[in-house]
Amino acid sequence: MGFFCGESWSWVFRWGRIFNANDLLEFLELWNCVWRCKILAHKTDSISWVDSSDELFSTRSMYGALSNDDSGATNVSSLSKVWWKTIPVKVSAFCWKLLQDRIHTKENLSKRNILSADQSLACAFCSESPESASHLMIECQFTAQV
Ligand SMILES: [Zn+2]
Repeated sequence: MGFFCGESWSWVFRWGRIFNANDLLEFLELWNCVWRCKILAHKTDSISWVDSSDELFSTRSMYGALSNDDSGATNVSSLSKVWWKTIPVKVSAFCWKLLQDRIHTKENLSKRNILSADQSLACAFCSESPESASHLMIECQFTAQV
């Protein structure tokens, strides 16, 4: 799988057959996992969260990492970041739903005809804007306190 060249690690991958499209996708997924790993010759293995300065996981650092996309669009890279081993499953599941705009906001319930047309879409906490995922996570003055 690799070798040390001085103090730094060099990956060497060898394959038993020619890649098909699925193999290539799996390799890219593997590479996405390992390319940032720091392998040091004289240090024991450990897991750290690379998106915070203290290398400890927090929902704040995860939100910052996921929001770091200049386009503001959710991309595959963002979605894959939520399924990290060190993140509690309930947090990952919520973030995954949030990034795909699948949380049960009034706006989403209305789009699926679960709320009737005569029901208010105003935020249940502040009543100042339609209750959307971005309102609840970013704009709402009430949920910001939580
Ligand atoms: Zn609100």
